[in-house]
Amino acid sequence: MRPELNTYTHLASGKVREIYEIDPETLLLVASDRISAYDHVLSPAIPDKGRILTAMSFFWFDVLGVPNHLAGGPTDARIPAEVVGRSMVVRKLPMVQVECVARGYLTGSGLLDYRATGAVCGVELPAGLDEASRLPEPIFTPATKAAQGDHDENISFSRVVEQEGADRADQLRTATLDIYGRGAALAADRGIILADTKFEFGIGNDGELVLADEVLTPDSSRYWEAASYRAGEVQPSFDKQIVRNWLTGDDSGWDRVADQPPPELPEPVVSRTRARYIEAYEWISQKSFADWPNHE
Ligand code: ATP
Ligand code: MG
Repeated sequence: MRPELNTYTHLASGKVREIYEIDPETLLLVASDRISAYDHVLSPAIPDKGRILTAMSFFWFDVLGVPNHLAGGPTDARIPAEVVGRSMVVRKLPMVQVECVARGYLTGSGLLDYRATGAVCGVELPAGLDEASRLPEPIFTPATKAAQGDHDENISFSRVVEQEGADRADQLRTATLDIYGRGAALAADRGIILADTKFEFGIGNDGELVLADEVLTPDSSRYWEAASYRAGEVQPSFDKQIVRNWLTGDDSGWDRVADQPPPELPEPVVSRTRARYIEAYEWISQKSFADWPNHE
């Protein structure tokens, strides 16, 4: 018999995930089907999104082969029946208070910083780069871990050194660029550009870095389709573009700047977005999502 979810202490809710404590050493991270865009959580949810992103994290943890926080598999006996497939049982770790971002392409806050200063997080870049430019080499662009609801703020490597010490800061940069590089290479083989990503690390018993949180999912990374990549333009998001196009198009009637909540997504937008997440998982993992565990 699997335990009931309400036997675990609910610790926190993120925009898309719920965190429970199984025991003082162990957490249950449950990915919901919620989807966010333009800083709003949308309605309705995308059926199976939580399971698809969980499947992706498990895939990546497996192929990356670096020390990670997993304390059990996707059907671990501690996972309550109703959340099997969307849950990770993980070691509860002291977390490094830095969002470890790697960028192989320039967009978003990185592009804004570059346009203002010619650098991102203190990393000087050549002149003449533009929206979605591929960088000469991937760069480490750390950010603060903002309190819930706040935006992360890009910080320089020297801030990371001040906060975490020089050795730890070096480890974080090396691990971030190494894991990003391997993830991006595998994704590229499958026709997907991993433009950038954010990792979170915890500290293991022997002081070693442990890859935690979700990893290389479309919620923590920018996925672009390689076949339609065009430098100089804002790239369509592999997973969220259908939603974004609908929200900002005439049909939704949504006024993004007026700070009103976005309207309900119509069914075709929901089902096409669901198909897109499955496509991303299947392209990358070369596995069938139909084989992924579901609630029992
Ligand atoms: P947002 O929805 O904006 O991302 P959030 O970061 O508060 O907000 P989640 O990402 O759902 O919400 O929260 C996951 C939390 O769990 C993060 O604070 C992350 O640092 C933490 N976390 C992930 N893995 C571990 C772990 N192994 N041990 C301890 N904390 C972890
Ligand atoms: Mg988070």
